[in-house]
Amino acid sequence: MALPYLVKHIYSYGTEEVIRRGKRIYALKNIELVKFDPMIGNIHCRVKDDGYSTYYKVTIENFTSAATLSLRCGCPYNLSEVCRHKAAALFFIQDLMDKNQLEYQAASYKTTHTLLRTKAIDLKSIKMLCSADTFDQAEQTLKTIRPHILSSENEKVVAELDMNGKTHHLIFKKTKNVILILLVIVCQRQLMLYVFIKQCCYYNCFN
Ligand SMILES: [Zn+2]
Repeated sequence: MALPYLVKHIYSYGTEEVIRRGKRIYALKNIELVKFDPMIGNIHCRVKDDGYSTYYKVTIENFTSAATLSLRCGCPYNLSEVCRHKAAALFFIQDLMDKNQLEYQAASYKTTHTLLRTKAIDLKSIKMLCSADTFDQAEQTLKTIRPHILSSENEKVVAELDMNGKTHHLIFKKTKNVILILLVIVCQRQLMLYVFIKQCCYYNCFN
């Protein structure tokens, strides 16, 4: 079977060391999806370096086609086109695509939203979508902040979460056994998503 084109991009443009360390960052779950724009096919990931406690922003543009794919990373590496952070981000995005969790055909959503698709709302699924650090942070946050569930009916849950002086909105909708997660969030989306999921599980919103 031919390699998926995102993975092929890593092997075509990354050195052996970049590939090895990119895989390591990905395996350690030191990477998360920050913003996903299905309208123009752009993705921002936050990637933690494997050697230093530094986070880099990786931007993947036009990811839906190998011909137009374009990558940027905030790190100073310039020995090859793909750095270890870009490699980690591509492994991560490819995995989400393989599992059909990126709803990139949905073109009718506003760009300020992030839409994710998952077969189940559980801790395993959310661990896929956030970094190990964020997961730990969410556990701590959950001890003091709880989302307000505004409504829960017809397989749709609407909630808001007050955090750091801002109110964030979250919508979960279940259709044909697939749960769409629509996040209208400025920042810290994975953290709130996780907190929200815990709350939904607690109230058995999807049972
Ligand atoms: Zn980099």
